[in-house]
Formats: sequence, C-alpha cells, structure tokens
Amino acid sequence: MIRQAKAVRKVAGKGVHAARRGRAVRKLRAAKVDAMLVTKPVDVGYLTGFTGQDSSLLVGSGWACLVTDGRFTEQVAKDCPDIECCVRTGPMEAALAGVLKGRRVRKLGFDPKHVTVKLRNDLAGKLGGRKLVEVSEVVSSLRQAKDDGELRIMRRAIRIAEKAFKELCGLGPKGWVGRTERDLAAELGYRMRQAGADGLSFPTILAAGAHGSMPHYSPGSARVKAGQAVLIDWGARAGGYCSDLTRVVFTGTIPAKLREIYEVVRLAQEAGIAAIRPGVGCKAVDKAAREVIVKAGYGGQFGHGLGHGLGREVHEAPGLGKLSTVRLKSGMVVTVEPGIYLPGIGGVRIEDDVLVTAGSARRLSGLPRDIDAMRL
Ligand code: ZN
Ligand code: ZN
Repeated sequence: MIRQAKAVRKVAGKGVHAARRGRAVRKLRAAKVDAMLVTKPVDVGYLTGFTGQDSSLLVGSGWACLVTDGRFTEQVAKDCPDIECCVRTGPMEAALAGVLKGRRVRKLGFDPKHVTVKLRNDLAGKLGGRKLVEVSEVVSSLRQAKDDGELRIMRRAIRIAEKAFKELCGLGPKGWVGRTERDLAAELGYRMRQAGADGLSFPTILAAGAHGSMPHYSPGSARVKAGQAVLIDWGARAGGYCSDLTRVVFTGTIPAKLREIYEVVRLAQEAGIAAIRPGVGCKAVDKAAREVIVKAGYGGQFGHGLGHGLGREVHEAPGLGKLSTVRLKSGMVVTVEPGIYLPGIGGVRIEDDVLVTAGSARRLSGLPRDIDAMRL
C-alpha cells in the first residue's frame, strides 16, 4: 500500500529533512547514481525525521518513499507527513521493487556496510534492468557537520548527563563507599532518565580502583572503597542524539600515582582541544594530545585514539586517531578523551564533547576537570 504524500504541513523544522535529502541527492548525482536505498536507521531518521525502526528509505531527485510495516503507520504520519510511505505486507525487496516501478532509476545506490547480502541478492533479482551500485558514506558524511537544531539537541543531551552526574557526586563519599559499581551505574542511568533522557548513549562504564585500567570495563559487583579513584564514562541519549563524557572521581585521599597521571591527561586534553580548528587534520589533533602523554613517559599506556565524532551515534565519523585522513570542518562535534591506563593500579581518562567552530573549538560540556574538584 502506498500512501501519496500529504500536503506538507507547516511544522517547524520539517523543511530541514527535505533540505538534507536534497544534499544527499546532489551527492548521488555526482556519483552518477539516480536514487539510493537507505537502510541504516540513524540515516533514515536524519533524512526524514522518522523515529521508528525496521524501515528503509528510497530517495531520488524530487521524491522519497519510506518503506515500513503496519507497526509504524501512525509513527510515520506523525514524524514525516511530507514524504510518501509504503506500508509493506510482504518482503522488503518486493516492496522496494514496487516503489521503484515507473520511476526513472537506472542505477540504484546502496551502502554495502548496511545492506545484508540477502537483501542485496533478493533485490537484484527483482530490479529488472536496473543496476545496484555501491555508494558509501553518502549520508554519514552529511551528518558530520551539525546544524543549529542538532546542536541544540546535543547541548540538551549533554546537560542531562551532567545533571545526573552532579546529583550522584552530590551524595558525597558516604553515598558511594560500600556500593557496587553496578548499583552506582544503574543510579546514574536512572537519574539521566529522570532528567529527560530517552535512554543511555551506551552502557555506562563505572570502574572502581584498579578496574579503571580497562578502558571499556563493564561495571560489576566490586564495591567502591574509601580512598579510591572511580572512572565513569557515561552519556545520555535525547531527541535522537548522544552525549559522551568521562570523569574520574575520588572517594577520599587521592593516590599519588593517580594524581601524577591525572595531571598529564588533563594537560593532554587541553593540548588536543587547543589544536582543534577547521582545516586541521584529525590526525594532527590526536598527535598534539598524544605528545604530552609520550613526553611524560606514558605513551605506551594510551592505547586508543584521542576521540571520535558524536551525534546520532555515539561513535561516528570523523575519528580523531593516528590513521584518520579527515580534516575538521566547522559544525563537527568530536569527543576529546585522552587516557593513561596502568594495570593493577587504575586509569585516568577525561572526556569532553567539543564543537568545531569557525574560530576554534568550544567545549559543549562544562563539568570541572581540576583534580581537587573531583574529590567527592
Ligand atoms: Zn565515553
Ligand atoms: Zn567517547
């Protein structure tokens, strides 16, 4: 069943999706492709405003059709009344072929990273003379630079994460010592929900003491002790966008070794952020921060990239790492998160979300970073 596009309702911000589809189509034209199949949910949402799942978008010059199923008919009408909708009752490939019937599409682009081999094969069998062509990164490259509306939502996702964290820290050492990592992580998540989050950006990392040396530790049944460092990496998802922050807090006296590495990491983060401006290679930003850690003798204990793009996904392009070939552009939001990890002792990572602006870099997150402010 294909519902024809309703007259475009005057809904604030709705024109934004049509403009994004226009930019995507211009990229397709440059690649000599007539239309594209978009299957990745965050890309579908970016181009349409649709907030449901399991739906694919076909987009071509001057037209777009969302192929969904009966669970989402009401959702589509609410989220994106300005585009055609096909509510499929059979297999996805048959519905897609039906939508393409009668349209001037000789070459249909698809992103090989987000189309299963099965869908590709099944669709190829139904397209007649049309050709399927691999086109990569069309939508993800558009998503890198955020517009004002996206930045407003991202600031909200960051504020929610910060509010919940401040509340948890406000319980003081008595509210932390003796509780399990899992319990504290759950409370942080609950407080983010109370503050307006739709969910977590990713499962919270909350690592007590020596567990902090594992960058992607999963909180368990270990109980927080007095005089310990606790590394927390958390984020709120709101309005379809993510925040991603890391802080280390101390439940009493700060161990000397952790004080030493904390200061190195803090200075490395400053150096990374100072290097951020439009036109600079992501690799150079990573290098600026990494040099501080290498000079302090901990180069071997910083085993991950400096940061990553942030937006509808918690990890998206561009990556700030040694291998990146991307140059920063105004409007990109990246995390800057150097770390030093000492097995058997613990770890320190400080992560903030940073906007690349015409002038330089603007921290969107405002939690304290000074070590003495991190004592509960
Ligand atoms: Zn993080
Ligand atoms: Zn991160």
